[in-house]
Amino acid sequence: MNKKQKKMLARIAVSALLMIVFAFIPSSGLIRLAMYLFVYFLIGYDILIKAGKGIIRGQVLDECFLMAIATVGAMALALYDRSGDYTEAIAVMLFYQIGEFFQSYAVGKSRRSITALMDIRPDYANIERDGKIVRADPDEVETGSVIIVQPGEKVPIDGIVIEGASSLNTSALSGESLPREVREGDEIISGSINMTRVLKVRTTKEFGESTVSKILDLVENASSRKSRSEDFISKFARVYTPAVCIGALVLAILPPLVNIIFLSSPAQWHTWVYRALTFLVISCPCALVISIPLSFFAGLGGAGKTGVLVKGSNFLETLSKTKIVVFDKTGTLTQGVFEVSGIHHNTMENEKIIEYAALAESASSHPISKSLQRKYGLELDRSRVTDIEEISGNGVTAVVDSHSVACGNDKLMTRLGIQYIPCHSTGTIIHVAIDGAYAGHIVISDVIKPDAADAVRQLRKAGVTKTVMLTGDDRKVAASVASRLGIDEFYANLLPADKVARVEELIAGRKGSDKLAFVGDGINDAPVLARADIGIAMGAMGSDAAIEAADVVLMDDDPVKIAKAIKISRKCLRIVYENIVFAIGVKLICLLLGALGIAGMWLAIFADVGVMVIAVLNAIRALFVEKL
Ligand code: ADP
Ligand code: MG
Repeated sequence: MNKKQKKMLARIAVSALLMIVFAFIPSSGLIRLAMYLFVYFLIGYDILIKAGKGIIRGQVLDECFLMAIATVGAMALALYDRSGDYTEAIAVMLFYQIGEFFQSYAVGKSRRSITALMDIRPDYANIERDGKIVRADPDEVETGSVIIVQPGEKVPIDGIVIEGASSLNTSALSGESLPREVREGDEIISGSINMTRVLKVRTTKEFGESTVSKILDLVENASSRKSRSEDFISKFARVYTPAVCIGALVLAILPPLVNIIFLSSPAQWHTWVYRALTFLVISCPCALVISIPLSFFAGLGGAGKTGVLVKGSNFLETLSKTKIVVFDKTGTLTQGVFEVSGIHHNTMENEKIIEYAALAESASSHPISKSLQRKYGLELDRSRVTDIEEISGNGVTAVVDSHSVACGNDKLMTRLGIQYIPCHSTGTIIHVAIDGAYAGHIVISDVIKPDAADAVRQLRKAGVTKTVMLTGDDRKVAASVASRLGIDEFYANLLPADKVARVEELIAGRKGSDKLAFVGDGINDAPVLARADIGIAMGAMGSDAAIEAADVVLMDDDPVKIAKAIKISRKCLRIVYENIVFAIGVKLICLLLGALGIAGMWLAIFADVGVMVIAVLNAIRALFVEKL
């Protein structure tokens, strides 16, 4: 609870106490009025001031205005009757404030659980200077510096371990509670916490480019993107409040006039003005206005806790309608870590052809390139390579030791007019040509992610009707992966542009409100991520482009989380609709009862605060997603 909330709580308590005490002190006339006015202003002064400011600015139809009119009206009625019953106006203010207090508390609470993610923000990086460890601002650490991460500290910047071994707690990033063991040579990402031993890390990125900064940016921007349901509520409030005010005015004036003119009976102004004021109290749309953004907020928080970053409530809404899931193959369903399983028809030694290939690939970030470089095993001397050109979906060409080297699939060979020998083994085939002459091919194979099949099954359980795999890889490889994972459809040999075209076809062919999600790692598929109804990127291994282009980021690359994200979004949207229906329903009933004179102001304010509390509690449920 912050200072402001504490002050509010004290105000509520004192006012309530005074109201009770005054009820036992016999009083009348001006003294009584003064006593009650004191309590009234104590509890309601800020509302009255806000309402006054609103009137001056011409924005009269907000909650404060409604509350001010209703309570001032009730006070005036009590004066007019000389009944001395001022408690009603005070009670309305009191309950309204209790509701406001509760709401600010609840919003604060769910905000904190999102900002628990913010806790990953590192405050400093340890660097070694003249044999001493000094703390530096992570922003000022250059790429390639050596930093030291002590046990208990957060890894401030992405990098590679160069000395030491330890276990890392990555739960804030991925929701994964098992520690990850790392040792020399392993990549580690910022935001995880070093648990056991000191690590020396060579940074591979600047702080601003590191995972932790990326995540924080996403989280900070997420809740500002409004969903359609939220838009609906603000539009609704814009129509609803004036409508209610006009309704109240009619209720106050019309029946008395009818009484006088047509029925020649007493006007009963008092009764009808009172009913109109009640009507105003009931009409306050707070429950909706508050609980809907709060539900989305909690949904985003719940997803974040499990390692799924959703970039805005609008995406949560789209995600809940996802019926078609399209996967990229490499790096998404497979690990993207290729092993060389054969080298055929080579005109030079195995080592030599791998060396040429690895050097030609030295600038590519494609998983194939990474794998060839790993196979080569030695430090790459980049000065031997010039004129690198990467042709996405084909391969690369470069000049190595003044020989022109081409390295890629059959499309690349055809493009360059080089006769190649097709391969009969199943696997991704990398043809290599040197100085325009075919030099053989390297067969590499990728490993399917252990939980990819489960991910596809889970999606089906979550109501996804169609799964599709797109790949630039060879048909044979694609067929084998698709059948092993139980994927409905697959398309192979696609260039990046073909992938966009396929996704567009699938989008055109889907039913009405069904949505299509594309899951990829951003390598050769960032345009598709952007084109799909919702783009889901692999966060840990995915490229920066992917994280930019995507709407949802899976922090730990676990494809099972896609189904989880869909379930989280469904739960969140269900809660949103429950709240809308519940709040509007109760309002309508109360308005009717109020107009008929069955419900008085007390009941009205009770119903209002009650609905709000229930709606807010319901909204907070969206935060609990562990069991989905
Ligand atoms: P996927 O759709 O499976 O993610 P990509 O579209 O990234 O695959 O690549 C499609 C194909 O293009 C690869 O299977 C490979 O044959 C070829 N290719 C792409 N980039 C490279 C590269 N850097 N080196 C060699 N071949 C490549
Ligand atoms: Mg890919």
